[in-house]
Amino acid sequence: MHFSGRTWRPPYEAHSVIIQATSGCTYNKCKFCNLYKNECFRMSPIEEFEEDLAEIKRYQPNARRIFWTGANPFAMSYENLKLRALTVRDYLIKCQTMAMFASIRDIKGKDVRQLRKLRAMGINGLSIGVESGDDETLALADKGYTSKDVLEQCRKLDEAAIEYYFVYMTGLAGMLMYGKEAETKNKR
Ligand code: SF4
Repeated sequence: MHFSGRTWRPPYEAHSVIIQATSGCTYNKCKFCNLYKNECFRMSPIEEFEEDLAEIKRYQPNARRIFWTGANPFAMSYENLKLRALTVRDYLIKCQTMAMFASIRDIKGKDVRQLRKLRAMGINGLSIGVESGDDETLALADKGYTSKDVLEQCRKLDEAAIEYYFVYMTGLAGMLMYGKEAETKNKR
């Protein structure tokens, strides 16, 4: 299997088969996050992805759920996601769902019609680190979107019947405010 860099999956995906679709993060700017600070974003070449699928087929031919690793494989274009989803189905005929991490930014470039098609191909179960619903906190964390964006983009997922899970960070605003104050004091 071609795993490189940091491989990360949510605990509730413990029983899913994992495959690397991307590594690193396309954004890499959130103030509190250093998960992928030393890695550049990379999309696994389709040949590499296929080799891994062939290996999974050898050892787990009946896999029903597969988790694509990387901070945000959903950043891929609609065409690229479609190609990979159909390739998964070629190798793993019993696979019902393909889950992955996604950012609110990654949904923006896809319309509901495309999202519905991805859902029909098996893409379902997006883990989204929204962190907060408060605009001030989102700005402090430099998440790159607002609460309005979260609502708009997730309504599209609802329309397409794509399931998603939010990750929230409790105490984030306090931590960022404290960091900011400490930074100001150190400059004085
Ligand atoms: S989008 Fe996620 S992985 Fe990327 S920097 Fe922000 S929190 Fe970290």
